[in-house]
Amino acid sequence: MGGSLDLHFDIAAMVIMVVILGMLSGKKNIPIKRSYVFIVMCIVQVLVIVCSMGMQICFTSDEYYSGSLSLIFADLYYALDFFTAFIFMYYMVLWSGRSIRTKRLTQVILFIPLIVYAVMIADNFINHNLYKILPGGGFVYSERLEILSGVALYAMIFGICYAIKYVEAMSYGKLTAIALGCAGVVVGLLLQFHINESFFINFVIAISILLLYELAQNPLNILDGNTQVMNRTIMDEMLGLDIEEEKRFELIVLAMDDFKLINKTYGIDMGDVMLRQVADFLGTVSRRGKVFRYGSDQFAVQIKPGSDNLKDVLNNITERFRHPWIYEDNSIHLSATTICISYPDDGSTLGSLIEVLDYTILFAKKKNRGSVIYTKEVDLHAMRKEKAIEKAVEEAIQNDTLEVHYQPIYNTDKGCYTSAEALVRMKDEKLGNISPEIFIPIAERTGKIVKLGTMVFEKVCKFMHEQNIANSTIEYIEVNVSVVQCMREDFVDTILEIMDKYEIRPEQINLEITETAEISALQILQDNVEKLHAKGITFSLDDYGSGYSTLGYIHQFPFHIIKLDKLMVWDAFETERAGTTLKYTVGMIKELNMHIVAEGVETEQQQKRLSTLGCDYLQGWYYSKAVPPEQFASLIKKAS
Ligand code: C2E
Ligand code: CA
Ligand code: CA
Repeated sequence: MGGSLDLHFDIAAMVIMVVILGMLSGKKNIPIKRSYVFIVMCIVQVLVIVCSMGMQICFTSDEYYSGSLSLIFADLYYALDFFTAFIFMYYMVLWSGRSIRTKRLTQVILFIPLIVYAVMIADNFINHNLYKILPGGGFVYSERLEILSGVALYAMIFGICYAIKYVEAMSYGKLTAIALGCAGVVVGLLLQFHINESFFINFVIAISILLLYELAQNPLNILDGNTQVMNRTIMDEMLGLDIEEEKRFELIVLAMDDFKLINKTYGIDMGDVMLRQVADFLGTVSRRGKVFRYGSDQFAVQIKPGSDNLKDVLNNITERFRHPWIYEDNSIHLSATTICISYPDDGSTLGSLIEVLDYTILFAKKKNRGSVIYTKEVDLHAMRKEKAIEKAVEEAIQNDTLEVHYQPIYNTDKGCYTSAEALVRMKDEKLGNISPEIFIPIAERTGKIVKLGTMVFEKVCKFMHEQNIANSTIEYIEVNVSVVQCMREDFVDTILEIMDKYEIRPEQINLEITETAEISALQILQDNVEKLHAKGITFSLDDYGSGYSTLGYIHQFPFHIIKLDKLMVWDAFETERAGTTLKYTVGMIKELNMHIVAEGVETEQQQKRLSTLGCDYLQGWYYSKAVPPEQFASLIKKAS
């Protein structure tokens, strides 16, 4: 260090630290261990800067130069400065969500440098041997300081590596940013050894701490913007830590019922107000429970044993929902389904708890709306089966093992097969053949149906192209599409691109739609159907009479064909009333100028009667089951 005083960098560093501390004190703190460690890191850094300034003032001033005050500043400076590296390391360990309590080797690897640090710093307090004071002012670093820097560097790298190893708790992006910040500190340290004129290392460290604040500690990234309760990311982190340390807890999840309807009826702003009120209320139901926003219309309250009585909290919540929620002139009744899950009884990892929880929410929404349900009451066997199927679908898509079979459809007028329905088939190594009736709804729930549907459609077009279907009696193929697919903005483009690729004409495709999934974007759905219809592609309303398809749809969409559900067909042969219903249904559809396919035709009697009634097309096992592509190809060749 030269003789002239240059405090610019330290002053700038101090300003940054004061700003960070100001921001921390102004906002709601995140009540987890790493937040307190972060505050300690900031305070230590402020002390480091104070010592650094004191030390420089002393060393450059003749009066204080040899005084004991300068030695106190310098010794304290080094003790605190290198300690920051260990605090950082501990911070990263906490952030990773994995405790080192049970890891012996890690503890040893960690404590050795800490001991080296402690011994060297203690020695320095007695012998002041980390630096050399030059006669006539200023000082130089000793080699020991380089060793200490190496130890600090080791601690920092350890912290980052530990976090990388358990990276699930944080994103790679954040980790990269932190690693870059650390690299900055290291480069700064190396430069500082060579550039003695100005003392900038504290500034570099302050910048890195600011970066860390932005990435990991900024409450704005952790609290939900509307309700000001903690968000899902931090919930996962906090629960993860408790699980890591094997601390028991109960989680109450409050899932609002029909909240979409509230938004629709009263407007989104009012919906937000209601959510705020519910969040505020949940903040009062327990003494020490933590409230999180679990999903868009779901909250979670974490209750630790000993702090609150679960029953009381639940009663409190149920009681509150009996009364309306008031805002300005509005008095709104809300309903919520409450789910209780406990760790470790209902799951030993965060992943398994969330899995059980999400399944229970789904289950409760179907059967126990507005009530309290414990996950213990739910049949988890069904959930495991569903998860296995979900995985099987994923693998089938990835490995391209899905097959499409074709079921011919008989034209009563022409007396031959003029179309066929494409039906997807999935065979899993462990689960065997799985019916689409089972896996399609699961694929719809998980969004996998989009990829699956596109694959099926491409296989159909490819088959039609390769078999030169246009040269047979088969005029078009009926392909099932889920409304989940049809509600996507890119649906029309996807369909047209594939048809273009295999040179399929619009008249050769008929798309079958059933409402098996919830229609959340009716406008997009209607627009897409209109666009494809305008191109010349026809549509069928599938499963008419099954409860999924109602008369309303006939008016909303330009259907060319109505497919009578097999149960409706079968019923017609069971009772007279059902027979009459079928007769008039057929009459009505004909009156509306649409064509009719009767499904589930299994007997000669059915075939005869349905033809007489005026059904244009018949489909069922009486004619053929759905068969593999090769078999279907030879079947139509024979027929033509
Ligand atoms: P769906 O569209 O109503 O298809 C007709 C179902 O009835 C098929 O079952 C077919 O094999 C069966 N079936 C046909 N004739 C008879 C008969 O005479 N008697 C009896 N008992 N059954 C008959 P599958 O193949 O198991 O398909 C079940 C459902 O899965 C389909 O019902 C459709 O909703 C869905 N699905 C199948 N493939 C696809 C697909 O590629 N995409 C989408 N989104 N859904 C599909
Ligand atoms: Ca169908
Ligand atoms: Ca059907």
